[in-house]
Amino acid sequence: MKNLDVETNERKTIPGVPPSVRPESARPPSSTASSPSEYRFFRVVQGYLDEAAALIDLPAHVRTILDQPKNELVVHFPVRRDDGRFELFTGYRIQHNNILGPFKGGLRFHQTARLDDFKALAALMTWKSSLMNLPFGGAKGGIRFDPHAYSQDEIARITRRFIHSLGSNIGPDYDIPAPDVGTDERVMAWAMDTYMNTVGTVNKQAMLGVVTGKPVASGGTHGRNKATGQGVVHCIVDWAERFGFDLKGKKLIVQGFGNVGSNTAVLLSHLGVSLVAVGDHTGYLHNAEGFNAHRLQAYVRQNGSIAGYPNGEPISREEFFGVNADIFVPAALENQVGPEEAQALQVRLVAEGANGPCNPEGERVLMDRGIEILPDVLVNAGGVTVSYYEWVQNRRSEQWTLAEVDTRLEGAMRDAYRRMVEFQMQHHCSYRVACYGVALERLRTVYEQRQIFP
Ligand code: NAD
Repeated sequence: MKNLDVETNERKTIPGVPPSVRPESARPPSSTASSPSEYRFFRVVQGYLDEAAALIDLPAHVRTILDQPKNELVVHFPVRRDDGRFELFTGYRIQHNNILGPFKGGLRFHQTARLDDFKALAALMTWKSSLMNLPFGGAKGGIRFDPHAYSQDEIARITRRFIHSLGSNIGPDYDIPAPDVGTDERVMAWAMDTYMNTVGTVNKQAMLGVVTGKPVASGGTHGRNKATGQGVVHCIVDWAERFGFDLKGKKLIVQGFGNVGSNTAVLLSHLGVSLVAVGDHTGYLHNAEGFNAHRLQAYVRQNGSIAGYPNGEPISREEFFGVNADIFVPAALENQVGPEEAQALQVRLVAEGANGPCNPEGERVLMDRGIEILPDVLVNAGGVTVSYYEWVQNRRSEQWTLAEVDTRLEGAMRDAYRRMVEFQMQHHCSYRVACYGVALERLRTVYEQRQIFP
């Protein structure tokens, strides 16, 4: 592990306490990054909810409401493959909470996605929207399949049938999907078009905001594509400024080189941070001299993965986690950093671009080793924040400049970072629990004012 020269009082107030989880009987099974099928992601999120709720004395009924999603939709629908066969797909949409505004959250196309994951990811969206002071709730959804094994035409038909099956269970004032793992702006364009042409036929233009993360020409906003990575970078810069940590010349490792991972690496390269190891679903590469993040991003956009990229030496997953660096940005899936990975990491900071990349045991090891963790609820919230800007532009028929979006995002991220730190210093908890705490305080206020219907 690297030593940081500058120690501040604030640094010392960060306790190495492990996150509390539910009582033994209700605890998730001892989870390691290597047993994804047993990992109880939703239980983990509920455990942090318990911890933050206790800190702020959250009324029991609010705690009970937030413990479960409001709606769980499961749809089955047939899609014609290119060879004429029909295949039945199962799609999910979990709507966790909408007291602050319409349900909001991504669509994930991935072969390991499960109901439990979507529930966890939907709850995280509720905390994220609340933390960022957005007028949104939380949701998540998607389909369990491997998009790499299907043609573009097939993915278009799968997307359209899924959106058609969800019908009026989504909508610009009700539930607003966005991109996540395995989906991108093309998928959002198909989703919007399908919704417009089915549910919104009489008032098409008012339906533009049914999804965010659309291509700019089809109603998207400038800056959404890089927004999540941009938010990650704002958090890293904030952290570095607080600790007098000069980013120039520092080394970065990134797991997952899709939207979040690649944009984070590119933007950090502008600050002099060098990407020395990278991995995705096809494997891991090392380059002690540093990759050209722009070129690698262009290569992945062209080829779909880092596989075959010439300027790096293939390494194993185990070797990747042991690469000597300063910052690790996990930007792939949940449950990637268990105790073994946490013990292997040779970095000063883990900035969670992905949702839930560190499991509780991994987090405990990182904390014990003094490795700082900037948590997902804050770090990757740039995506939903700029999605909100897109939704506002759609409602007002406006197109903001990239500079305007960037300025607003920076202000929003820095403000949320400050509120997280204030809570953490007041309650002596982890940054993660502080994010939950700030989010829950806003939700509590609204529940207290509106009370429970009827
Ligand atoms: P993406 O599909 O663009 O990229 C995902 C990356 O992860 C790819 O490089 C893929 O190869 C890699 N990957 C998949 N399985 C892997 C495995 N088993 N091991 C290693 N790498 C693997 O997805 P994304 O949008 O960049 O999302 C990444 C993470 O960020 C997810 O946790 C997502 O929920 C979170 N996130 C995304 C956004 C957004 O705006 N896209 C916003 C907030 C949070």
